[in-house]
Amino acid sequence: MQDDIRAGAPAAAGASPFRVRVLLVDDQLIIIEAIRRMLSDQDDIEFHYTTDAAKAVDTAEQLQPTVVLQDLVMPGADGFSLIKSYRERASLRDVPIIVLSAKDEPKLKAHGFSVGANDYLTKLPDRLELLARVRYHSASHITRLQRDEAFRFLRESQQNLALANIELQKMAALDSLTGIANRRRFDEALRTEWQRGQRDKKPLSLLMCDIDSFKAYNDTFGHLPGDLCLKKTAAVLTEHLKRPADLAVRYGGEEFAILLPETDLEGALVVAGACRAHLEALAMENPTVPSGIVTLSIGVASVVPSKDSSAEQLVARADKALYAAKTEGRNRVCKADIDSRTTT
Ligand code: GH3
Ligand code: MG
Ligand code: MG
Repeated sequence: MQDDIRAGAPAAAGASPFRVRVLLVDDQLIIIEAIRRMLSDQDDIEFHYTTDAAKAVDTAEQLQPTVVLQDLVMPGADGFSLIKSYRERASLRDVPIIVLSAKDEPKLKAHGFSVGANDYLTKLPDRLELLARVRYHSASHITRLQRDEAFRFLRESQQNLALANIELQKMAALDSLTGIANRRRFDEALRTEWQRGQRDKKPLSLLMCDIDSFKAYNDTFGHLPGDLCLKKTAAVLTEHLKRPADLAVRYGGEEFAILLPETDLEGALVVAGACRAHLEALAMENPTVPSGIVTLSIGVASVVPSKDSSAEQLVARADKALYAAKTEGRNRVCKADIDSRTTT
């Protein structure tokens, strides 16, 4: 195929993808030479040809001309069928085709248009007319290609923007130190789960967790080891979540919260006990406390959400239970008093 293609202008490599590029498909070398001469002194026009009808469609696909000049009668091929074949290829569906034929019958012209040609010229055309038609069809094709490219670029940009937004949303919901959800995410989840619990009449449980004597830990080891301890604690809490809707968050400082939808007090106490025991089992050294290790106090509250109570009350009850765990000696789980207005 390459042997049969001749560039009549500067090599295509490195040239703009939107130069005027003519592909002449004709078996007669005398015609090829005549057309080549007509286009030869035009700097903006690349000229290519093929005499092989069997390879014409592949050649066009590879070359991506901005206009095809198509002979009608070629050995072993009928130009009309070739036009149909170009149109069957997605990459050639819109390329302008000018029929170049010795015949001047209106019926043939009409048929040419009906199978997908864009124009019809009789051989040999006038040079100025040929140039005008080549440029006219190429320009509209180039405009279409540029528009398609702009749309593609726009679509890609929109997709990238959508992905970036998703990333941004994820980041906005995460705590940068521990990588678990942050307080903002907690507030959203609490609102959503409260409404869901109220609708489904299912219990919602909340664990408020606070590392014991963490100020002393920081003062002893410094902030970086303190940060590492926070990360380990976050990992421990996350490990004990079993359902997709369960959520562990860094509530602030060395306080964490765990939201357990569709979980009653009994179930929440099991999770709290497991978290407390797990952190204790890690035995992170904290010489400032009697036990000598980092421990966790947890307050647990549970409620079936209803219009008689509020999410804020649930948080307050869990907080109060946490305070009780602290005053009763730390490293323990305390449950909140039963909410007088609701059952758990
Ligand atoms: P308690 O047992 O009563 O909870 O005592 P505590 O010392 O843990 O509580 P307190 O609220 O007095 O101190 C919390 C400390 O947590 C204060 C600060 O040094 C530390 N802290 C809070 N946020 C961070 C953080 O992001 N990184 C580090 N390294 N330390 C933090
Ligand atoms: Mg603390
Ligand atoms: Mg605290």
